[in-house]
Amino acid sequence: MIQKVDKKLVKAVGLISGGLDSTVAAKVVKDLGVDVYGVYFAMPWGCCDKTKAIEAAIAIDIKFIVLQLDERYLEMVRNPKHGYGTAMNPCVDCRIHMFSRAAQYMKHIGADFVFTGEVLGQRPMSQRRHSMKWIEEETGLKGKLLRPLCAQLMEPTIPEQEGLIDRNQLLQITGRSRKMQYEIARKLGITEFTPPAGGCLLTDKNFARRMKDTLDHGYRNFRETIALKWGRHYRIEEGFKLILGRDEEENVSLVRYAHRDDIIMEFPDKRGPTLVLKGEKPSEKILAIAAGLVQYYSKRRDLPSQELHFWKASKTNEKQTTLAKKLTDADIKAIQI
Ligand code: SF4
Repeated sequence: MIQKVDKKLVKAVGLISGGLDSTVAAKVVKDLGVDVYGVYFAMPWGCCDKTKAIEAAIAIDIKFIVLQLDERYLEMVRNPKHGYGTAMNPCVDCRIHMFSRAAQYMKHIGADFVFTGEVLGQRPMSQRRHSMKWIEEETGLKGKLLRPLCAQLMEPTIPEQEGLIDRNQLLQITGRSRKMQYEIARKLGITEFTPPAGGCLLTDKNFARRMKDTLDHGYRNFRETIALKWGRHYRIEEGFKLILGRDEEENVSLVRYAHRDDIIMEFPDKRGPTLVLKGEKPSEKILAIAAGLVQYYSKRRDLPSQELHFWKASKTNEKQTTLAKKLTDADIKAIQI
């Protein structure tokens, strides 16, 4: 391990997603003798694969820390200073947000710098030279944000200038191809990483539409956004939203992540989809439409109107009954998010 003048180890905080780039970057820095703290940012709705990130950290033998993204992240998604990418992905602001938190963590543990697996020119929004520079400045990491995979093409950072790490051992990869990274990974013996573009849900058009609807109409708490990745979503009127599970697993997940004031609805025999209704004091009409949705997506679609049970998520013993309104394809289409 490299010793600083005061005999302390050189420490660095690396952003780890479990993907190829961040794993190779961490291995390169670790092999320079640096004590690496891998930080994984957990999105509430999941994104990169945390298990893969843990496996990658174990495989290259670095420390691993999870930082949860919270309401502050959601507020940034609502109103990003630098705009969106192809869907609702605010990549520049997202990076600024994550790197700022990594910078705080760096100070907290007394590390010398932060590094990422970014590659110059790999992404249209956030990995152009000028945006990489803004990001560095806006996060308070000026001179302390190292991109090991393309460092030789960037201005030397402070740890390079101070000789804490050897610039000659860093790389000069550019562009979208990951051929070089695969090659290096093979040479370094790295096998644990997720395939590139492991899937940020904010880049998914369906998810983005649901996220926009949530941000436009308000949400009770951050956990609500977790359910955006499951089920079928509908908005009946301002303030009333319905989510319907598409299979048993989604039914269970939707109930597990429901707010205590949400209403849960299903057939008395529990067959068919489970529905979560969000909104204050739903009228009889709204309850009937919700029940109609459950019937529409069940095997009882063509039967006469069915009775359904509903209850507040926090009061599972206080079940009530409502009669489904028969819905047509056009009715469903009109309320679909
Ligand atoms: S793709 Fe998603 S996680 Fe990655 S920078 Fe963009 S918004 Fe952030």
